[in-house]
Amino acid sequence: MEFHPLNEKDIKRLKSMVSPDRSSTGASNLDLHSRDMSRHPACRPEVVIWPVNRREVSQILGYANQNTIPVTAWGAGTSLEGNPIPLRRGIVLNFSRMNQILDIREADFQADVEPGVIYQDLNHKLRHSGLFFPPDPGTQATVGGMIANNASGTRTVCYGSTKNHVLRLVVVLADGEVVEIGNRAPKTSSGYDLVHLFVGSEGMLGLVVEATVRLAGIAEEFASAVGTFPSVQSAGKAVFEIMRSGVDPAALELLAQECIDLINREQDMGLNVLPTLFMEFHGPTQRQLSDILEIVHEICLQKGCQEFRPGLDRAERDRLLKARYGLGEMIRRNHPDQSRIVIDVAVPVSAYPEMIVFAIEEARKVKTATAYTFGHAGDGNIHLVIGAKEGGPEWAEIDEANNRIVTKALAMGGTATGEHGVGIGKTKFMTLEHGKSLEWMKKVKFLFDPKGILNPGKMFP
Ligand SMILES: Cc1cc2nc3c(=O)[nH]c(=O)nc-3n(C[C@H](O)[C@H](O)[C@H](O)COP(=O)(O)OP(=O)(O)OC[C@H]3O[C@@H](n4cnc5c(N)ncnc54)[C@H](O)[C@@H]3O)c2cc1C
Repeated sequence: MEFHPLNEKDIKRLKSMVSPDRSSTGASNLDLHSRDMSRHPACRPEVVIWPVNRREVSQILGYANQNTIPVTAWGAGTSLEGNPIPLRRGIVLNFSRMNQILDIREADFQADVEPGVIYQDLNHKLRHSGLFFPPDPGTQATVGGMIANNASGTRTVCYGSTKNHVLRLVVVLADGEVVEIGNRAPKTSSGYDLVHLFVGSEGMLGLVVEATVRLAGIAEEFASAVGTFPSVQSAGKAVFEIMRSGVDPAALELLAQECIDLINREQDMGLNVLPTLFMEFHGPTQRQLSDILEIVHEICLQKGCQEFRPGLDRAERDRLLKARYGLGEMIRRNHPDQSRIVIDVAVPVSAYPEMIVFAIEEARKVKTATAYTFGHAGDGNIHLVIGAKEGGPEWAEIDEANNRIVTKALAMGGTATGEHGVGIGKTKFMTLEHGKSLEWMKKVKFLFDPKGILNPGKMFP
């Protein structure tokens, strides 16, 4: 699709649709919306608009569609694959001012929110209710961005990813039509599941202006433990056995030794520098949890666990989780001159030990690169962050390693992206991953957005 640069009339017309303080063509605002947290090159939009209600979103989209102007939604810009980068320029709609928690229905375990709500703010508001919104990417992400990327996190192994927590959406389609999809029933078998078509669609089918999200009860008690292992493979095997035993972890994270070393250096944690599993379990009583920890301890010992430390208190658990969440930033800080490819493959959990060993070996082949391996192991999700100077000779090697790792994951029945979405970086794997069904995705895209104005340049190779 040919998109033409916005002319003065377009800018004037678009600016007239919102109050004067809520649009900008200023260089710093354009720059702020030109890149996310990934390595992908920046691309400036032509105008940034901060809508405050669905009527404004509808009016802007109606105009953009009529005049074939690209529109890219923006949550908090924390994506790792270039998902909100306005590749074809045009309009960026920043949803940060649509950030109202509209209703919390404790008795139904539900909340209605606007898309710009930061999920931690929702959880803060819920803190005295005994409820929480479980998907947790760990960044200052918005609910709209989480829905669009189908984000997940450390708790997903037990509570599910964002898609498991969206019941109803109000979306504005490419031509400005406002549609309500889904309902507030805990379950439904009525009609095609349009809600889940929009979850993970990266702002390419329509823009979310309201969501009803499902909340979960906070467990009465928790128990956490760390186990260290002689190799990543033995830790991976323990993951598989823990999942098979049916103990239902609330978090099951793997960190390879270089991550532990980094955390120790940055946060003075004093952990053993070995492949490590961080585990958490939720339940009604401590007695039940201590039985679970015994089972898990036994499994870990069988897989060669060298030290098993149960009974972390809340402060210690929180410190560990914070360090785990902070890894991305620590890596960035420690290698300021590098660019990074963030591998995000997920495989069936039985394939996890083989996959993680393969991934590490591939990364090691690139001699001068740095590599950090960690992941939401209970979901079969591996993050391998490989860094080097972009454009240098090792960059092509890193890219080759990335290709081999993703190809292997796909051959094992896995996916190129467990949680970060396709954005720019994973488009090259879409044909291999989806085969003929990619053509059906394109038809769906055409049905909802025939002019291709919504987040153009993404997802499809
Ligand atoms: C250090 C670090 C760690 C991370 N860890 C995780 C992790 O553990 N798990 C995980 O899943 N992710 C993780 N991420 C990635 C990122 O935080 C998530 O993908 C998050 O959901 C992005 O939300 P956002 O609000 O920043 O959205 P943005 O990045 O602004 O946008 C994401 C996508 O959503 C679209 N979008 C935004 N708002 C709307 C809307 N209202 N309607 C339709 N489309 C919309 C955008 O166009 C874009 O395609 C991590 C990122 C960083 C930097």
